[in-house]
Amino acid sequence: MELMKNNKGVFGSEEASLVVDKLKETFLSGKTMSYEWRLSQLKGLMKILDHHEPDIIKALYSDLSKPPTETIAYEISTVRSSIEFAMKELKRWMEPEKVKNTILSFPSSVKIIHEPLGVVLVISAWNFPFYLSLEPVIGAISAGNAVVLKPSEISPSTSSLLAELFLKYMDTSAIEVVEGGIPQTSALLEQKWDKILFTGNENVGRIVMTAGVKHLTPVILELGGKCPAFVDSNINLKVAIRRIIAGKWTMNNGQACICVDYVITTKDFAPKLIDALKSELEIFFGKNPMESEDLSRIVNLNHFRRIKRLLDDDKLSGKIVHGGQSDESKLKMAPTIILLDVTDQKEALVMKEEIFGPLLPIIQVESIEKGFEMMKFKEKPLAAYLFTNDNKLKDEFVEKVSAGGLLINDVALHVAHPYLPFGGVGKSGFGAYHGKFSFECFSHKKGVLSRSFAGDTTARYPPYTPGKLRMLKALLSGRIFTIIRALLGI
Ligand code: NAD
Repeated sequence: MELMKNNKGVFGSEEASLVVDKLKETFLSGKTMSYEWRLSQLKGLMKILDHHEPDIIKALYSDLSKPPTETIAYEISTVRSSIEFAMKELKRWMEPEKVKNTILSFPSSVKIIHEPLGVVLVISAWNFPFYLSLEPVIGAISAGNAVVLKPSEISPSTSSLLAELFLKYMDTSAIEVVEGGIPQTSALLEQKWDKILFTGNENVGRIVMTAGVKHLTPVILELGGKCPAFVDSNINLKVAIRRIIAGKWTMNNGQACICVDYVITTKDFAPKLIDALKSELEIFFGKNPMESEDLSRIVNLNHFRRIKRLLDDDKLSGKIVHGGQSDESKLKMAPTIILLDVTDQKEALVMKEEIFGPLLPIIQVESIEKGFEMMKFKEKPLAAYLFTNDNKLKDEFVEKVSAGGLLINDVALHVAHPYLPFGGVGKSGFGAYHGKFSFECFSHKKGVLSRSFAGDTTARYPPYTPGKLRMLKALLSGRIFTIIRALLGI
């Protein structure tokens, strides 16, 4: 492969291979195995937060005009909580897991060891460029791996800040940031990794998975999709509306994998819902949201034009009930509400692909239950939301709707819960992380059975006889009375 330049100089296959070799050597030396090393690296990450909050805020503002409050809440505080949680739990996570014994292996001791995998690759996306880079790295380090982080080139300020800070605070013999775009990522993907965690869109997900096939490298794909919010009329309207707006427009102005992609509500309730959304949007972002400092811009021109194409679709003529303004020169786009019925939603472009922007289609259905039924014919989303006070509806939602995760009466909050796995299902990806699941996804669960020489039954050894077979079957059944009967020959 031709050598390619990133902002640190030439980086091609040869350079990628040198990085992996260096990290492999460190890993094989055993340095990353100890509790002390893992803790020291988690502390290194914490120092990045403690000493560089203004730099992180500045980088994210430059990449996305992300409001500082959102950076502090969704990028810095979330990472801080995850580091604190990992530091608190690490010793417990590293302990061998005790496992029950069975009569078949008695007497023996049985346990599961969490073994680091080796050298792992984390490829992250631009929309939460700090959080999506560090959250997997916390898991990889906690599990005792060496790790290469490849942040997104679409958020270049955060990418170069991470590279600079990792050099300063992390053990670079085992943890490295490689910056760059497709050529650099491709060079990295040619290497043999022990695991790859990728966050991004499904097309690149396929490229990552194909690269994994060559070396039989396991991959975790954290992809996107269209996350629905079902909104029943039996709700606390004010609170529900605020949370829907927060889950659609305050997280990067809709550029989030778990944001509400579209709403499903009943025909009767839709007008009331739209009125409430409009008046609360005005409270949040003022009469002219295009001027609001609290709305992120669209990340770049490509994405701006992609979203504009969805908005300019002929099928939406007369259906835009709020917003619709945009300014290409500033990459700004206003919160926009589109009212569709069941037939429109089959045809409109905005319902055919993930929006990843500030457009909110509202689909009118006869009943929320019918809305659940519709999900059977759609790809499984990363998250699904329901707003209701009706317990029967809540049960039906949990039973009938398949998604990476479900959340009732709020948006996105489940992602920050350290005891819940985060990941997709079907087209929204596979594999899960966060909290202990991050530690586990970067570990091999090694089963260890240690027997004594006592209790050796001859039933398993030739010459085979009907009596031995009876005994063997009894042992394999694991039932004590069956074994006693076999021993007694009755
Ligand atoms: P992106 O453009 O930043 O790409 C992600 C990564 O893939 C980057 O590091 C990039 O360098 C690399 N990449 C891009 N093209 C490549 C190629 N051809 N070969 C190799 N590597 C390549 O991010 P994106 O894909 O625009 O992110 C948006 C998508 O990610 C959405 O679908 C969103 O839903 C999803 N997403 C998912 C999660 C999650 O946690 N599940 C989080 C954020 C975003």
